[in-house]
Amino acid sequence: MKIVQKFGGTSVADISKIRSAATRVKSEVEKGNQVIVVVSAMAGVTNQLISYCQEFSSNHNMREYDVVVSAGEQITSGLMSIALQDLNISSVSLLGWQIPIFTNDAHAKALINSIDNAKILKHLDKGEVVVVPGFQGVTKNREIVTLGRGGSDITAVALAVSVDADYCDIYTDVDGVYTSDPRIVKKAKKIDKITYEEMLEMASLGAKVLQTRSVELAMKFDIPLRVLSSFSDGPGTLICSEEEVVEKEVVSGIAHSMDEAKITLVSVEDRPGIAASIFHTLSEYNINVDMIVQNVSEDGSTDLTFTVSKHELLSAKDAVENNKEIKWRKLLIDDDVSKVSVVGVGMKSHAGVAMTMFKALAEKNINIEVISTSEIKVSVLIKANFTQDAIVCLHEAFGLDQVEDSSQ
Ligand code: ADP
Ligand code: ASP
Ligand code: MG
Repeated sequence: MKIVQKFGGTSVADISKIRSAATRVKSEVEKGNQVIVVVSAMAGVTNQLISYCQEFSSNHNMREYDVVVSAGEQITSGLMSIALQDLNISSVSLLGWQIPIFTNDAHAKALINSIDNAKILKHLDKGEVVVVPGFQGVTKNREIVTLGRGGSDITAVALAVSVDADYCDIYTDVDGVYTSDPRIVKKAKKIDKITYEEMLEMASLGAKVLQTRSVELAMKFDIPLRVLSSFSDGPGTLICSEEEVVEKEVVSGIAHSMDEAKITLVSVEDRPGIAASIFHTLSEYNINVDMIVQNVSEDGSTDLTFTVSKHELLSAKDAVENNKEIKWRKLLIDDDVSKVSVVGVGMKSHAGVAMTMFKALAEKNINIEVISTSEIKVSVLIKANFTQDAIVCLHEAFGLDQVEDSSQ
């Protein structure tokens, strides 16, 4: 079989961890598998490299930023290959530009356009393990780029698609996908199987255990993904298509995101074309708007509220203020908010999820500021300091808490 094994930052945080990750690769090779290994930078290294760039200016050149931050993964790929050779496994590291992994020109958030798999296949056929640094690629003009934070997951899945791998294993510091972030909810349960669709919602709503685009790609090309621990053995979590999940939960998990900011335009004129004009301006500034709510009109004016990512708040404010077509009385901004979401494919056929959610939050006196829904999720925007309480109470309300084992 052909497989991809990806090791995240904590799994390659020092030489002894790289060595133990290499033994996991060795055991797959000994089973007769052809293996591509994708590595992240050592834990903390990417943040350190980014902070070096920021010491000059927050407005540094993004081409050079990519040259700097892509270096973290280059170091680990070489070290992983040395570790494998030290275990008598033939291996070779291939950097993004050597393969090449071709992307578009968007520095710091490049999208992969194509991967030339010839070199990789040649080495695999020679019986070698190919080690690839995650998170990096190259443009047609041979510029180095990175894929955005958490992008090594994308490299892993994209390579799995490119060589038609049988599956892609993501090794990390938790032993699978949980019903909520296990670092926040002590009673969170490990999920054995979850659908691509649910994982995609969980990831895009803040569960950073997998990068959103990597799940999207795995879903599109039907690549079975597993999330496994680097530090213990166990079956992990399988992310697969809906048909393969027999027991569909109404709510499978709770995700949260602190990266939220809210803008309210008070007393905007209420006439056709106002929303079109505001959101057109925002899209021209390349700002992603998430939740939107508009109040009922009173005396020909209304309040319009929407949310954006925290780091886009100031440019979103600029964008709206520069739109001269619309008038409002006051512009309010608030970045002390968070978004909490319940996710589950079972919602498609079960009523009452929103009601249970709102009731549980009301019982804890947590005020809901904005609501948004899709077929398989309900999200609410709340004050940031209630985030933990909200997640814990929703976890209980939807029966997701782990049952204590009384036999112990
Ligand atoms: P890596 O460096 O291996 O890519 P990440 O830090 O990106 O690891 O992702 C793993 C982390 O994701 C875990 O340590 C955990 O705190 C967090 N996480 C958030 N939500 C979940 C969830 N629902 N299940 C498991 N882990 C989660
Ligand atoms: N090292 C990069 C980051 O920290 C990419 C990754 O680890 O996935 O975002
Ligand atoms: Mg990650």
